[in-house]
Amino acid sequence: MESTIAAISTGLTPSGIIIVRMSGPEAMRIAEKVYKGKGKKRLSKAKSHTIHYGFIYDGETVIDEVLVSVMRAPFTYTGEDIAEINCHGGILVARKVLEILIKNGAVLAEPGEFTKRAFLNGKIDLTKAEAVIDVIDAKNQYALKAGAMQLKGAVAEKIRDIREKLLDEMSYIEAALDDPEHYDLTGYGEELREKLVPVKEETEKLIRRSDYGSMLKEGIKTVIAGRPNAGKSSLLNLLSGYEKAIVTQVPGTTRDVLEENIQIGPVSLILMDTAGIRETEDIVEKIGVEKAKEALYDADLILYLVDAMEGLHEEDKEILDSLQGHQVILLKNKTDLPGIQEKPLLESPQEGIRELSFSALTGEGLEALENLILTMFENSEITANDEVVITNERQKACLMEADQALSYVFEGIEEEQSEEFLAIDLMNAYAALGRILGEDVGDDVIDRVFEKFCMGK
Ligand code: GDP
Repeated sequence: MESTIAAISTGLTPSGIIIVRMSGPEAMRIAEKVYKGKGKKRLSKAKSHTIHYGFIYDGETVIDEVLVSVMRAPFTYTGEDIAEINCHGGILVARKVLEILIKNGAVLAEPGEFTKRAFLNGKIDLTKAEAVIDVIDAKNQYALKAGAMQLKGAVAEKIRDIREKLLDEMSYIEAALDDPEHYDLTGYGEELREKLVPVKEETEKLIRRSDYGSMLKEGIKTVIAGRPNAGKSSLLNLLSGYEKAIVTQVPGTTRDVLEENIQIGPVSLILMDTAGIRETEDIVEKIGVEKAKEALYDADLILYLVDAMEGLHEEDKEILDSLQGHQVILLKNKTDLPGIQEKPLLESPQEGIRELSFSALTGEGLEALENLILTMFENSEITANDEVVITNERQKACLMEADQALSYVFEGIEEEQSEEFLAIDLMNAYAALGRILGEDVGDDVIDRVFEKFCMGK
């Protein structure tokens, strides 16, 4: 029988509450032995997901006044019965409670053992377990966001999608080899190749993105804004011409906004071209300040252009004021024109707004803009959008194995290898992706994942 484990799950500093967590088949029985509530109500008879007020006893001695949460298998973090004892937040008291649980049959949990049990009991896959550490260890917004996405299952879902496609092909080949009368494999190589091209693109994209580790790099939603004639189109052209090779044009998913991806070092911007909107309604002038705010609100980064000849208009000021809490780069544009004063547009610095002298015509200030975005990114002031990013080295290694195996499939098709051989490489890719989720990974790998955890998690 599985042991029942216990540990202090909150930090060991004096605090409002300290939680002692216990998980395993004996959790309720042990809790009941040390707990007395009002009346005759027994913890072992309590409904799942209920909280009970009472006292913890060491024999006849009262130790603490507590709340005990009762959560029954299988709908718990570990998939086992869990009792959580909320003690008054003294370290000594919490230690004493833990000691009593151990005296009554629980064993001290190893670091990460609760989460390890969750994994072993099939409550979470390995990507989620790793996400738990990522979330705990997250040192910046990017890492936290990536961890949270992974925790939500985004990585696992993506991997499962890819595996599903490989599985379809593997099954088809197998069926065809078993039953050549009903399945025809003529021309199948070409068909397979076509199907695998997007799959390979997907794995390559995941690898490319993971290259930057926790420095997430995919897509900072960037909006170019400013009054008519401030130079928005010119800036867009400048930026997209800047690295033509990587610029891709995709029709926007919402409205008729074109999006262009631009790479600045490790950072990529999704430039939202508001040109489409502008033809009908000018983003600043016609839709008005409120609407402009809405359009800008969603952006991670705003490049706000002002014609230096004109200076700041009242509506510019209003919009800039309303963008508090957003990351704004104010570009004093057209500084190439004669007679432009040196002094900045903003009389006094404004929170979140950085100003640069710029010329969309000559490209002056472009490098400074690039550096500024990079710095902001490195300081993680700009948040990336919700793309799936693999930041975990173990997962990345598996992904690369899968990608390699897929390359062999393509080579095999090229060399007109028999379908049996293609199926072997497909299988290898499938298995490598499975290891991302924790399928068929050895105990050593599992131990390595969980040893990074803290006590009580
Ligand atoms: P928007 O579309 O309203 O944002 O502005 P455009 O990009 O169409 O530019 C308006 C006008 O200003 C055009 O004639 C541009 O050539 C000109 N322009 C834009 N940026 C600059 C600049 O940095 N210097 C100069 N001299 N003219 C510029």
